[in-house]
Amino acid sequence: MSDTPAKSRGLFGLFRRPAGSEAAQPAPRAPEDAAPPPEPALREASQPGTQDAPTPAGRPGWFQRLKAGLTKTSAKLSQDIVGIFTKRKLDADTLQELEDSLIEADLGVATALRITQALAEGRYNKEIAPSEVRAVLAAEVERVLAPVARPLLLEGEHHPHVILVVGVNGTGKTTTIGKLAQRFVQEGRKVTLAAGDTFRAAAIDQLRIWGERTGADVVARGVGADAAGLAYDALARAREQVSEVLLIDTAGRLQNKQVLMDELEKVIRVLRKIDATAPHHVLLVLDATTGQNALNQVEVFREKAGVTGLVMTKLDGTAKGGILVAISAKFGLPVHAIGVGEGVDDLAAFDAGEFARAVALS
Ligand code: GDP
Ligand code: MG
Repeated sequence: MSDTPAKSRGLFGLFRRPAGSEAAQPAPRAPEDAAPPPEPALREASQPGTQDAPTPAGRPGWFQRLKAGLTKTSAKLSQDIVGIFTKRKLDADTLQELEDSLIEADLGVATALRITQALAEGRYNKEIAPSEVRAVLAAEVERVLAPVARPLLLEGEHHPHVILVVGVNGTGKTTTIGKLAQRFVQEGRKVTLAAGDTFRAAAIDQLRIWGERTGADVVARGVGADAAGLAYDALARAREQVSEVLLIDTAGRLQNKQVLMDELEKVIRVLRKIDATAPHHVLLVLDATTGQNALNQVEVFREKAGVTGLVMTKLDGTAKGGILVAISAKFGLPVHAIGVGEGVDDLAAFDAGEFARAVALS
């Protein structure tokens, strides 16, 4: 597979789901991969009918899991909308109530206002069906998310592409690295993983297991080793071994924010001694069950670690996914992928329309 045109197109093919299945397939090749167009800035919309397909094992499809994960948010919104607009006109009072409900769902004040304004246009003092409110909600949420829904692309010539993965402990960094490694390996790429969370033996072992599972090479040292030194060695080794992708895990203890941020800065500094353009991606992993605190995490990591894109995990649980809308409206950072489970294949491309529908229409 290593010389397919799909490979040269970077990660565009990475998150494409084969029709009717979300199972791990070896590097699904889309027909258009035969004649690669320029790298798209936006991932194309998924084909209707493919998103709800259950896995061969009978497990719900990723969209079902996303929908289930967002049920807490969507059910509450739906209930509020029915409660607010049944037998009442759209006026200042009902709009205020809706705004409160949207803010409570973590969508953020700016987006809440945007939605109520869009709704009010041409409908003021008229009765409105809850289904119409939900349709406007879905459309406005999609409008906020569409510009940030961008696939993770390996652009340019780098040897290797260096992807630094940052975030608070427990958000899903190591798991996301494992899932990404799997996809890259399936695309026929050679992958190196760096066990940069050197604070816990369990974290190092966890990455080793992902290495065994995916066939990626793992660079690790003992507990307490210097993370920057390890990252440096990992990049040197990845070059030697002609790896195409280096994924670097990091510690995420926020208890001592300054130490953590200093360490991340040091990691980046030493990587640049080998490759002045590295890291080529800094992915911030966010846990969808966190809610409002995720906004602070973006703020801090963006400033200190130069985050280039986001992955939101645990959208399959009891997620507070509304926060992704607030984050997108505020920061405009690309959202590359979402985690919808703990398994190696449970990483999906972020699709604005599907997410909006899961929030507003399910
Ligand atoms: P880290 O501390 O940031 O490296 O986080 P880990 O990768 O160790 O993940 C923390 C926990 O979250 C583990 O139990 C993972 O299995 C779980 N996890 C990670 N991603 C997801 C996801 O998308 N969905 C669910 N349900 N669990 C996840
Ligand atoms: Mg970890």
